[in-house]
Amino acid sequence: MQYLLSCPCGEKVPVTRAQAGLSITCQCGKQLSVPTVRGLSELEPVGDTASAPATARRPWGPRQSVLSLGVVIFASAVIAIIVLVQTRPPNPARRLAEESMQGRAPVQLLNDWRYFRDNEYSVDTGRTHKTMLEYANARTRNIRWLAIAAGVGLIGLVVFIAGFFVPAGRARA
Ligand SMILES: [Zn+2]
Repeated sequence: MQYLLSCPCGEKVPVTRAQAGLSITCQCGKQLSVPTVRGLSELEPVGDTASAPATARRPWGPRQSVLSLGVVIFASAVIAIIVLVQTRPPNPARRLAEESMQGRAPVQLLNDWRYFRDNEYSVDTGRTHKTMLEYANARTRNIRWLAIAAGVGLIGLVVFIAGFFVPAGRARA
């Protein structure tokens, strides 16, 4: 273990415990008296200046852990919401309407609209009803998962904000 002994010239001379109580000569020619072992421990140790910036650069404490946890939860929820919106079930009524409208004259479309209005979209009652029921169930499931994902995202946001109230903590050596 080496310590740095400061000289009035500004030079820092490295000394060891073996030199405690002795005197050494600085580069400037001045005689420096090395303190005793007890006095040496109060000096700046060699290597401390090199290791200090490394730990200061990455201060990873409980606060950073909570903040990152919040970010991970929130990001996961956002990804889930994007996937759920992308995979939401298409409305079969709209598709059926679009299919029936293709290549139809305005007068025919008006007749179609009257027909759909009077028959409550029951072109093929049984099949259409089943399709719409399946769609309603799929949409309910999709909305339920969206609500869960939004809730998880909110939890992530709360965890992230809570991270700012967690003490930063000391970086471990
Ligand atoms: Zn000197």
